[in-house]
Amino acid sequence: MDRVKNIEKLEETGKIWDLAVIGGGASGLGVALDALSRGLSVVLVEKADFAKGTSSRSTKLVHGGVRYLAQGDVMLVFEALKERGRLLKNAPHLTHNQPFIIPIYTFFDKLQYSVGLKIYDWMAGKLRLGKSKFITKGETIKRLPKVKQEGLKGGVVYHDGQFDDARLALSIAMTCNELGGNMLNYTKVNALIKNNKGKITGIQVRDLIGKKNYQIKANMVINATGVFADKILQLDQPSAPKSIQPSQGIHLVVDQSFIGGKDALMIPKTTDGRVLFAVPWQDKLVLGTTDTIRQKAKLEPEALAKEIDFVLETASAYLTKKPTKSDVLSVYAGLRPLAAPKEGSTKTKEISRSHKVIVSDSNLVSITGGKWTTFRKMGEDTVNQFSKVSGKSIGKSQSAGIKYHGYTEHPQEGHWKGYGSNAEKIQKMIQDDPKLGELLHSEYPYTLAEVIWAVKYEMAIKVEDILARRLRILFLDAKAAKSIAPKVAQLMAKMFGKNEDWINEELSDFEKTANKYILK
Ligand SMILES: Cc1cc2nc3c(=O)[nH]c(=O)nc-3n(C[C@H](O)[C@H](O)[C@H](O)COP(=O)(O)OP(=O)(O)OC[C@H]3O[C@@H](n4cnc5c(N)ncnc54)[C@H](O)[C@@H]3O)c2cc1C
Repeated sequence: MDRVKNIEKLEETGKIWDLAVIGGGASGLGVALDALSRGLSVVLVEKADFAKGTSSRSTKLVHGGVRYLAQGDVMLVFEALKERGRLLKNAPHLTHNQPFIIPIYTFFDKLQYSVGLKIYDWMAGKLRLGKSKFITKGETIKRLPKVKQEGLKGGVVYHDGQFDDARLALSIAMTCNELGGNMLNYTKVNALIKNNKGKITGIQVRDLIGKKNYQIKANMVINATGVFADKILQLDQPSAPKSIQPSQGIHLVVDQSFIGGKDALMIPKTTDGRVLFAVPWQDKLVLGTTDTIRQKAKLEPEALAKEIDFVLETASAYLTKKPTKSDVLSVYAGLRPLAAPKEGSTKTKEISRSHKVIVSDSNLVSITGGKWTTFRKMGEDTVNQFSKVSGKSIGKSQSAGIKYHGYTEHPQEGHWKGYGSNAEKIQKMIQDDPKLGELLHSEYPYTLAEVIWAVKYEMAIKVEDILARRLRILFLDAKAAKSIAPKVAQLMAKMFGKNEDWINEELSDFEKTANKYILK
């Protein structure tokens, strides 16, 4: 993806795009992908970096949602299981089959989870990832060496998918770019353009890097801004009521030794009725999550002290090696873009977890809610509105069969896996110039070559883009990320032809962000 070239395409006079998508998270990317699969022309603008919002802050599960099954939301689970299967097929380099174990402490739990997960297996049909089964106490301890053993009767194993959320977003953005989409990060929508009938005909954007405004004309404009959806709805209609209720979920990242194996732990009902996940991810362990109503939509939400305590206390109740604040390598928070509850209520339980496509009187199409796993179906449902909005015909969606950028049936192991078929190209860079094989940090596998790759081909613009979303080290070990920021900034400055001032500004920006991921 070449940002300079993509910005130039905005200068083409008289161009009318079929779709202008606002937001470069899972929802916007799903819309762009589906529209491109039907031969429509697409421009997508993201005000920060791709997946800077909620889409890089998930639990990293490609899942049907076992807990929604318990809540009786059968259709949602059916749909998600189908999408789970497709995602694992289309992006084997960024996803994998992850076994989960629910430790069993009562006979009732054994019955409940064994039956529930058999139904989950059956619902996945051919796309099932593995059979769920009851395992003995001995095997549970073997597979989860650090699980609480007191009162343990065994475990129920089931399978879901796991993924690298931000790198998947990038891979989809690159796929869209290859299909002819014009993908732009650091490009913010400031206004909606309307005709004299009050119908939307385009967007006004600001290139935050080149500091220039552009008008983009489009037959359909899509608001895929997650927790920021109301801001766009208010650009359309200043008196628009609140439709989104942000609900925060935090995760703590600790060393993998706290679980001691490769299987994930899932507690369907903690003492206060929530779900707890302890999932191995990129050689660390992700613990989460919470569900806390927040009033403001923020790009960089912060974990509350009570959320941190809750996750540590709950994890400690089920693990024999108990994590404390000093063990936390990174803390990250994300906001669920849930549909706002009815007036007067603040209970998240009453808020729908499925997605909604809303067409406003002005023809602005908003996609809200949903989850990462179903991003493609959300896109398809949104693009289905194209004929109604534009009066033009469209073909059938083909997005379910598209393989994502970097697809390879046999990805390499370790951190190279996420690059898929590009891994060899980066390794060739190192072969040609061994200096590029230098590690950015002695304890992590990331190399100088990957920084160059990210700048050249993955539209990385800021130091944070590299350390948070291209290499994920900010999410894995925030202090380590801070320590390598100067090296990354120097290299980027050289590539962009920037001076010391740029380096200092970048480092100060990154430090402010990274400090939010470090527990004091
Ligand atoms: C804690 C947590 C855990 C989760 N775990 C999972 C999970 O394990 N599996 C799963 O399937 N789902 C999970 N989800 C759900 C999933 O992450 C979200 O549903 C999804 O990421 C939302 O994507 P989005 O594109 O709607 O929003 P976002 O990712 O927030 O994207 C919206 C984008 O719009 C941009 N934007 C806003 N205003 C403008 C503007 N004016 N101009 C241009 N761009 C703009 C923002 O910068 C942002 O990048 C989780 C969610 C949370 C909060």
